[in-house]
Amino acid sequence: MTINQSGWRPERPESNTDAVPASFTGNKALMLEEALIFEIGDTSTTGVDIAGATGCASRLGCLARTAPIGLPGLSEPETVRHYTRLSRQNYAIDLGLFPLGSCTMKHNPRLNEKMARLPGFADVHPLQPVDTVQGALGVINELAVWLIKLTGMHGVAMSPKAGAHGELCGMLCIKAALEKRGEGHRKVVLVPESAHGTNPATAAFAGFTVEDIPANAAGRIDTDALKARLGPDVAAVMITNPNTCGLFERDLKEISDAVHAVGGYVYCDGANFNAIVGRVRPGDLGVDAMHINLHKTFSTPHGGGGPGSGPVVLSEALSPFGPLPFTTRDAEGHFQLIEEETAGDDHPDTFGRMTAFHGQMGMFTRALTYILSHGADGLRQVAEDAVLNANYILRSLETTLDAPFAESGPCMHEAIFSDHGLAAGFSTIDIAKGLIDEGFHPMTMYFPLVVHGAMLVEPTETESKAALDQFIGALRSVAERAKAGDAALKTAPHFAPRSRLDETLAARKPVLAYREPPMAAAAE
Ligand SMILES: *Cc1c(COP(=O)(O)O)cnc(C)c1O
Repeated sequence: MTINQSGWRPERPESNTDAVPASFTGNKALMLEEALIFEIGDTSTTGVDIAGATGCASRLGCLARTAPIGLPGLSEPETVRHYTRLSRQNYAIDLGLFPLGSCTMKHNPRLNEKMARLPGFADVHPLQPVDTVQGALGVINELAVWLIKLTGMHGVAMSPKAGAHGELCGMLCIKAALEKRGEGHRKVVLVPESAHGTNPATAAFAGFTVEDIPANAAGRIDTDALKARLGPDVAAVMITNPNTCGLFERDLKEISDAVHAVGGYVYCDGANFNAIVGRVRPGDLGVDAMHINLHKTFSTPHGGGGPGSGPVVLSEALSPFGPLPFTTRDAEGHFQLIEEETAGDDHPDTFGRMTAFHGQMGMFTRALTYILSHGADGLRQVAEDAVLNANYILRSLETTLDAPFAESGPCMHEAIFSDHGLAAGFSTIDIAKGLIDEGFHPMTMYFPLVVHGAMLVEPTETESKAALDQFIGALRSVAERAKAGDAALKTAPHFAPRSRLDETLAARKPVLAYREPPMAAAAE
């Protein structure tokens, strides 16, 4: 082992693992192999030692199951080990730096968790009478006020459950506003080439037609091309700021003014708000709607598609069209929930409802905890440190990897590299797989599409200099190998439980159900 200035680093083994015979168990030291529960469990084993109930007749009648359910059984310790082993095959923000660009994989402070677990928050039910959940509604309201203040907007829809869901909310507001004006015929939504795939998908889902706007050589929107396309058929533009090349769209105000002048609306994809929180208010740039991914900027966990949260801030023009329910505070300081039954004639323009209840309460509690523990000045520091860390990565690696926009000035919260200059036959995927052997989750790859073989690295502000140096060292080492044409990199990862998988096949033909292998021939 060596200690270098970038922290602890094991020496690269002389040979790869092919030179060492496989272990008897298939385990690689503490990296344990794990079979499917169907393969290790059997229907006769159970971790439960309670006898079946007697003396109570089933009320299921003819619906009662007659055949055994056939689920695999394990004893309690086997069950605990099975799921613990599986959990160890995952990478997590609590294990190390997670450089996924655009995803803002920052540390989730434990204080957030502590607050969210307080019984008064954790045990509330969305159908409780409003009188009994004043505190919870107070949290939603206070968070709403912070989001409005931080963005300089007029209102906020709290219920959307992810960034993409928020995009849909914003576009439905725009649609409702256009229809109210009798301009439902405006169908075109302009989306820059570098946009996240959810932007065009959302616009199409909401019934609009998507047209691409090209990027200029500096990685920003081609403002002239955008302006040239504006006209009476344009409903909106969807612009990500900072954009997915990690650059601030300096012309956004000019673009917004031009879009408004022709009667369109400006949707801003706020997934990258982390870079500007406390420094820039999107409302000042003429934005009409913007989602905020609480699981990005405000440190709530990114949980397997579950507990995301994507509130949407709205301009004065769009606020009346926002969805139900929302909270208000009456003259006595009581919080009210405005829903279909309570809206009366006061909110005729709402486009309706997006979710069964009020949004992700647990995420609201975490996000508000994060905001209050940082304060306004602390949030500003978040943006500054996130940008500083990304620029440190950009400048540390620009001589090793091609950095297409290095000349465009400092980046924002993420640094972008391309596969230009790698040895023939080597690509971004080889670098990503090599990083796995180094113990890192790969960066975002092949996105945005405007950069060939893109590698988008977002360190976030929660990484120390030592952690950044270690990551930079690892990425530099893997990149040097890819430039030198190191054949071992083509079959990386070597130290992971599985080596290189056919990702296309896995995505196109996923095997999602266990099928018992055919019985071995009895005669044998
Ligand atoms: C993450 C992201 C989204 C989608 O947000 P989800 O919360 O994952 O639905 C949209 N646009 C950009 C630029 C993103 O980074």
